[in-house]
Amino acid sequence: MLTNSCFALPPGVHWTPVQDALDLLRRNLAPVTQVRDVPVAQATGRVTATAVLAERSNPPLPNTAVDGYGFAGGKPEGVHRMPLAPARAAAGDAPGILKKGEAMRVLTGAALPEGVDTVVLQEDVTVADGAISFRGPVRQGANTRKAGEDVEAGEVVVAAGRRIGAPEAALLAATGVRAVSVRAPLRVAVVSTGEELVEPGETARDGQIFDANRPMLLDLARRLGHTPVDMGRVPDDRDALRARLDAAAQDADVILTSGGASAGDEDHVSALLDETGTMTLWRIAVKPGRPLALGLWQGKPVFGLPGNPVAALVCALVFARPPMAVLAGETWPEPQGFDVPAAFSKNKKAGRTEFLRARVRDGAAEVFPSEGSGRISGLSWAEGLVELPMEAAEITPGTMVRFIPYGSFGL
Ligand code: AMP
Ligand code: MG
Repeated sequence: MLTNSCFALPPGVHWTPVQDALDLLRRNLAPVTQVRDVPVAQATGRVTATAVLAERSNPPLPNTAVDGYGFAGGKPEGVHRMPLAPARAAAGDAPGILKKGEAMRVLTGAALPEGVDTVVLQEDVTVADGAISFRGPVRQGANTRKAGEDVEAGEVVVAAGRRIGAPEAALLAATGVRAVSVRAPLRVAVVSTGEELVEPGETARDGQIFDANRPMLLDLARRLGHTPVDMGRVPDDRDALRARLDAAAQDADVILTSGGASAGDEDHVSALLDETGTMTLWRIAVKPGRPLALGLWQGKPVFGLPGNPVAALVCALVFARPPMAVLAGETWPEPQGFDVPAAFSKNKKAGRTEFLRARVRDGAAEVFPSEGSGRISGLSWAEGLVELPMEAAEITPGTMVRFIPYGSFGL
């Protein structure tokens, strides 16, 4: 399935461009989750394993789009008078039959009776003495919907690798789908590392800080449609971390760690992954983001994210989210960005991609005043990220920049 070299970067490259890193992940990863058939009512939120076909056309029969009066054929200009049949057709009625030359009362959603192909709006009609009168012209087929005009039975309604959301739930229901082949949710283990970390809500001594990354990454996993698996905090102790990674590999399909991913004395995530022989310390030309440690632990991919919460979130969104989607059976997601004028100035070094905490106000992108990667408040102030490409140099108010809303990252 995943090969030991799936995270190996080409030798001799020191600072890998973001796109090269993403291309490598895209090429080397494949779904790891089990496939099973579930009733359509349980399919919402799951990822389709195969293309889903419509079992019924939508609409299943021709029907009326308005409340009005139905008859056969279009009518030329001028006043028309037609006898009104005693029956009426309402939504849910099996289609009846209308005599030639007559009109029938029809209500929105009703299947068209045999002998009706055109409907005139009730507002345009006068009813008197068992007959209707209205003014032409009326186009043949007016105010009706054709069978299958939306979807024909047998057509693909949801492709493979799509997560079934609210719109798809409606589409599957409308097209008579009974069961869907879906993937089991991807289990995402989240582990925080660092001697200094204390559980949020508890008491911190001097020198200690609260573990901010774990609640952030657990929520991210949940919002992306995966099943978060809370593997707690581990101090900077290699044996403790080894045991925790073992447990995470048992309980999850992919492991997100934060902290300890560089090459320092207390960087035990990278040290342990290194022991497995599957690790690559990714030096990506990106800001924010210290090295990312990628490797396999007992066959499970590990994304060793930086400890700084800002870098951890940006790296998780940019580098861990698309591969997790693929592992979960989804197609590789490309976050949709929007080009907007900058409301800020910045002199950017060429040669690396930068992600700035940003939001759009009055049609222009504002960025958080401090780029410090410890500024968690800026993550919350922002509503997305501005991505400045490798080559960008001087940005002044009005320069077009790419704004990617958090929503485009699935947040
Ligand atoms: P590290 O990558 O372990 O060197 O950590 C980099 C910085 O991020 C240090 O200032 C850590 O204290 C901080 N940090 C690491 N993990 C967390 C966490 N879970 N929550 C908040 N800050 C963290
Ligand atoms: Mg640390």
